[in-house]
Amino acid sequence: MVCHECDLLIGVPGLDVGQKAYCPRCNFLLAANRPHALKMVFVFAICGFGFLLLSTAFPFLGFSASGQERTVTLMQSITILVSEDLPSLAAIIFISIVLIPGAFLLGAIYVSTALKMNRLLPGTVTVLRWVLMLMPWSMAEIFLIGILVSFVKIVTLADVSFGMSFWAYVLFTVCMTVVMLYPDKRQLWNRVRSLSDE
Ligand SMILES: [Zn+2]
Repeated sequence: MVCHECDLLIGVPGLDVGQKAYCPRCNFLLAANRPHALKMVFVFAICGFGFLLLSTAFPFLGFSASGQERTVTLMQSITILVSEDLPSLAAIIFISIVLIPGAFLLGAIYVSTALKMNRLLPGTVTVLRWVLMLMPWSMAEIFLIGILVSFVKIVTLADVSFGMSFWAYVLFTVCMTVVMLYPDKRQLWNRVRSLSDE
């Protein structure tokens, strides 16, 4: 493989559980076979998907200013954009903060279930390919940072409160980050490849 930091070409051997491989030139972490990676992906993907569903079910943010109160749900924040004549923006936001993360987590649950059972379920290779392809398009954490930035601005105009869905979305983002960063992609591919060769 090629080192992401310094472009050195390195032959990385298969790693035992707990082993890590670093670039000999720049010490960049190339690969890691972390313990219980599949179990972690499976548990955090299920929890993350649950939190994502919860985050669409309850009030997300509450505003009160000059005696008037209003709460919005996550879905309302998207439909408001449609009613403001910004349907393409609404579609992009819905796809990048709900649809793609949801599909990613379902795919991760599917692949980790197959690998835990030590056999390929129908379409495991295709699902893994899609999961890895969708990963960079999930904007959940960017959305969360965006909310916090606008919170700082809005708080001077109105009292803002975070609803239950907001906290569910925060927990979903944490789970999503663990699922994205914990497993080693190379190890996943090796595992799938060795199963499909059997
Ligand atoms: Zn390097």
